[in-house]
Amino acid sequence: MSKKLVSIVLPTYKEEKNVSLIYQELLKVFPQIKEKYDYEIIYINDGSPDNTWEEIVKICEKDPKVKAINLSRNFWKEVAISAGISETLWDAVITLDSDGQHPVEMLSSFLDEWEKWYDIVYNKRPNIEWASFIKNISSKLFYFIFNLISDFKLEPGTTDYRLLDRKVVNYYIKFQEKNRLYRWLTDWLGFNKKALIFDAQKRLDDGVSSYSYKKLFNLAVNSLTSFSMFPLKLVGYLGFFITFLSSLLLVLILWDKIFLNFFQFSNIAIVIVLNTILIGVVLMSLGLIALYIWKIHEEVLHRPMFIIKDKVNF
Ligand code: UDP
Ligand code: MG
Repeated sequence: MSKKLVSIVLPTYKEEKNVSLIYQELLKVFPQIKEKYDYEIIYINDGSPDNTWEEIVKICEKDPKVKAINLSRNFWKEVAISAGISETLWDAVITLDSDGQHPVEMLSSFLDEWEKWYDIVYNKRPNIEWASFIKNISSKLFYFIFNLISDFKLEPGTTDYRLLDRKVVNYYIKFQEKNRLYRWLTDWLGFNKKALIFDAQKRLDDGVSSYSYKKLFNLAVNSLTSFSMFPLKLVGYLGFFITFLSSLLLVLILWDKIFLNFFQFSNIAIVIVLNTILIGVVLMSLGLIALYIWKIHEEVLHRPMFIIKDKVNF
């Protein structure tokens, strides 16, 4: 039986110390899987300002199984991963961080689940207590809001350490959106998914995460706006609400003026209420325009219309 081919994709940014450490770790794991699989390692240097690229090239010169892609500048991890994935034609892709936070010993478990029948095998953290208090709270809040307003639900605590079958990769590389989130897009694709529960580890060197709060906040806004149109609809609802209330108020004022004269509303009050009605109408119109914008948004994303999981007798 011919061996199955597995690509290990490593996005790399400012990891000059870690690239060779992670390579050593991978070498320790490969003897266990060598019988059944052939492998390649693909490093993507995401425009690191330090010596990361030089370090990667050194490894490539020694080991022909190691390939490398050098991006022209820093495009962020999501894009770096996509660059790596689109450069391979092999049977499965495993993506993991190059700073050692994703334990390489788990590789064989990923492959075992893949063999069983799963198309996407992904890591899920048991909890995120290791993160700082603020990160913890903001992450919980993000998932809560997202899942509340979006039709597409996200699973908290999953990471980018995942295996994709060729079928999934073929669709993934069709996504054209520039602002992408690897995790959510692969989840969105469906297929047979299996979570492997284990915790992330400390970084190999003592560097810090490249994900600042600002980047994380941007990612959150990005995810919300690319999977949910609720923020857009909200404006329309607000307009409807305002128009409805102020129309009621107008009726009340006119009624009082004509028949009861109990509150003795001034004429200014009528003008003000007419104004709020109009503001409501404007907001409703914005909401309506938003519906069209969302449709345009969906079209320009060019997401695949459907995803085929299996085919028989073709
Ligand atoms: N990374 C990247 N481009 C970036 C930032 C990070 O390719 O702009 C890589 C980085 O080298 C690492 C992985 O993405 O392999 C995760 O990054 P980091 O450790 O900074 O984030 P965290 O561990 O907080 O998720
Ligand atoms: Mg990290």
